Amino acid sequence: MRIKRSERLFNLAQQLMPGGVSSPVRAFKSVSGTPIFIKSGNGARVIDEDGNEYVDYVASWGPLILGHANRIVIEAIKRAAENGTSFGACTISEIELAKLIIEAFPSIEKVRFVNSGTEAVMSAIRVARAFTGREKIIKFDGCYHGHYDNLLVKAGSGLATFGISSSLGIPTDAIQKTITLPYNNIEVVEKAFEKFTNQIAVVIIEPVAANMGLVLPELNFLRRLEKICRENGTLLIFDEVITGFRLCYGGAQTLYSIKPDITILGKIIGGGLPVGAYGGRKEIMDYIAPIGNVYQAGTLSGNPIAMNAGIATLKILKKKNYEQLSKVTENLANQVEEVFKDLNIGIAVNRMVSMFTCFFLNKKPKNFEDVMMSNTILYSKLFWGLLKGSVYFPPSQFEVCFVSFAHRDNDVKVTLKAVKEAGMEIKRFLK
Ligand SMILES: *Cc1c(COP(=O)(O)O)cnc(C)c1O
Repeated sequence: MRIKRSERLFNLAQQLMPGGVSSPVRAFKSVSGTPIFIKSGNGARVIDEDGNEYVDYVASWGPLILGHANRIVIEAIKRAAENGTSFGACTISEIELAKLIIEAFPSIEKVRFVNSGTEAVMSAIRVARAFTGREKIIKFDGCYHGHYDNLLVKAGSGLATFGISSSLGIPTDAIQKTITLPYNNIEVVEKAFEKFTNQIAVVIIEPVAANMGLVLPELNFLRRLEKICRENGTLLIFDEVITGFRLCYGGAQTLYSIKPDITILGKIIGGGLPVGAYGGRKEIMDYIAPIGNVYQAGTLSGNPIAMNAGIATLKILKKKNYEQLSKVTENLANQVEEVFKDLNIGIAVNRMVSMFTCFFLNKKPKNFEDVMMSNTILYSKLFWGLLKGSVYFPPSQFEVCFVSFAHRDNDVKVTLKAVKEAGMEIKRFLK
């Protein structure tokens, strides 16, 4: 594997942009090394600037469930672009995408389009606070909701206490109303509601946690969360930026039969272009300007190119068989587990439909505390071993591998061969 050109480009990029990147995880810091510069992608494969080809499990961090450069999506983008890139005015494409989303999500009656998941979360919290007349937020440790000040919080020392900010530059005021709790633990949620009666505006959660590696929810945890919110007049926000249209044609809420008050979407609904959206019951959404007094706007929001990429993507997904996707993932995850079991190396693979994470742990993690016990040195070895074997996993233990509808038998075969070789290298390292 040659990486000369990527190395040269990264040196240049570092002089021009902080860390050489537009988003931190791309810098390969947690696996220490030079990031590869991607030149192109097609189906399940990407090619870097040195000409190496990889089976891709990053998928632009989730959006590309149809694989790279899907013909029909690209055609839709071209057609839209030829009619003009942006108008800052009403277009039919917004109606069409809104219709598709509302049909797929029974909890969404109205939807507002924005430009990123972060923006959608930030706006949804604003609406929720206006609607409830309350200010406090409950979030869960290890769940990521973008880089909104109020949510860049990690757990403090005690349970059910206020957290500490996980970034510099955030005013103390911005996080004083955020309570951070462990995932999958309903008792601490109940305690928080007792302590802060009638003060909690919103509980925000990734219904399937995919930003600490993949951590699955206990069904009862989600059910009781819904119930507690209802009983206390608190709004439940499902952040389905990753899970929307990734687990089925709908969201995690479809699979678990739960009705959140507000849903956050992004990633897949933009078909690879920058989009975010938030939606929910009419009475809540009508708090937003121009009907209501919650201000939220965007010059490029509802951008016709992004809308058309999203429409094309959802129309294709509507006809896709997620069960088959699930089988591909299951088969791959099981075999990876086998490889490491045979080598006597502790690994726990969490998987769901089209996502999986290989944790170097002896048991399946259920929350952030468990996840943090992972052996990240071994993950880094796995990552580089796989890259050498033409497989591109996320450059961090705490990210999810995404399987797309473009992954074929041969891609799985290449992956398993690389996993076996990387596994043996890890074994030699451990001796
Ligand atoms: C990616 C992500 C976001 C943030 O979306 P951006 O478009 O990167 O701002 C929010 N929530 C979840 C669950 C995400 O995975």
